[in-house]
Amino acid sequence: MNTSLTLLDRELQLLRYPQNLQHPSWQAWDAADEYLIEHVEQNISDIAQLNIRIYNDDFGALACWFATSKPALISDSYVAQQACQQNLQQNQLTIDPSHIFDSVNIPSSMVDLVLIKVPKTTALLEQQLIDLQAYVTSSTVVVAAGKANLIQKSTQALFDKYLGPCHTSLAKKKSRLIFCQPTGDKSHTSPYPTIWHTDKPRFEISNLANVFARQQLDIGARFMLQHFSKFPALENKTVLDLGCGNGVLGLHLLAKNPNTKLIFVDESHMAVTSAKHNIQRNLPDVVNNCEFIVDNCLDNFAQKSASKEVDLVMCNPPFHQQNTITDHIAWQMFKDSKACLAKGGQLFVIGNRHLDYPAKLKRLFGNVSVVARDKKFSILSATK
Ligand code: SAM
Repeated sequence: MNTSLTLLDRELQLLRYPQNLQHPSWQAWDAADEYLIEHVEQNISDIAQLNIRIYNDDFGALACWFATSKPALISDSYVAQQACQQNLQQNQLTIDPSHIFDSVNIPSSMVDLVLIKVPKTTALLEQQLIDLQAYVTSSTVVVAAGKANLIQKSTQALFDKYLGPCHTSLAKKKSRLIFCQPTGDKSHTSPYPTIWHTDKPRFEISNLANVFARQQLDIGARFMLQHFSKFPALENKTVLDLGCGNGVLGLHLLAKNPNTKLIFVDESHMAVTSAKHNIQRNLPDVVNNCEFIVDNCLDNFAQKSASKEVDLVMCNPPFHQQNTITDHIAWQMFKDSKACLAKGGQLFVIGNRHLDYPAKLKRLFGNVSVVARDKKFSILSATK
């Protein structure tokens, strides 16, 4: 893995996170980070005097580069926040914890310079631009950067609508910058959370902007719900909804098994907040049986959960880390699940049939069985 970012006579050592599970050809920054850094260094003076906000820094390249200017960092991703801390440390840099924010707890001070890494989820960008309205003036400088294919006309339209007129740079190494001139208009409200309903039972599912399946029930999750009857008896057991998103799986399981303890885990702050809201809203009587944890897979389960082990894990694993397609997160989820399961406990996984989850689970648990399958999905189970 290339770990040295060398730019403008300066060098940073940057690692992806978690470091041990990454493909050797990946690196912790991209051409859009470099383009943004070069633009700021060459065009904006006295940055140490400015109030700076950095949004969606993938692995901390921007945080490290601008650390001495004491920026506020805002991210929805716990993994990105961990990466950032790791890389600050590795470069002997610090950012005061009071400057580190998640997407559901944003800073409330005016800002002079906003640096945005355009996220994969347009809705997250939209929410962030709406949040920014209150804290920018017509003299705030807003520069966003992203892969050219992420910067569509519709992306520019969001800047135009929520902050003010924007234009883009030429493409450089397949990346572009967006320059936006805020008008000071603060009149737009947010379309998030989005709300949809399940049919039977009819639950109201609320989704903050960066939550998976924000518009409707995921088809994989639907298939899993149809096969809950194949789960073992869960009376007074402890269940983990790993990669919970809006919590739709755990919510349905709790509705059928109100005496079950349910632990919801996701790396997205917006997901965990939405999951908690959805239990409170739909099953208020059982919310005290639940834990809501932000973590990278189950890295810190022992510290963050009151339970020592669990009886069942259900999981609809992700196959992206930011813009990279990967199965390393699924693999870590399987390994961490095995570590947290009680002896005899079971992991239930839903995945596309073409993925090699059966081989992975067999290797890890020594057994795997197919609980259900259709043309697209398999539900697999492995027992510890
Ligand atoms: N369980 C939900 C459902 O079925 O609708 C969401 C499933 S979605 C395919 C995968 C979820 O895993 C997303 O909510 C994503 O934020 C979460 N995720 C991605 N990487 C993660 C990680 N490293 N640790 C924990 N959760 C992660």
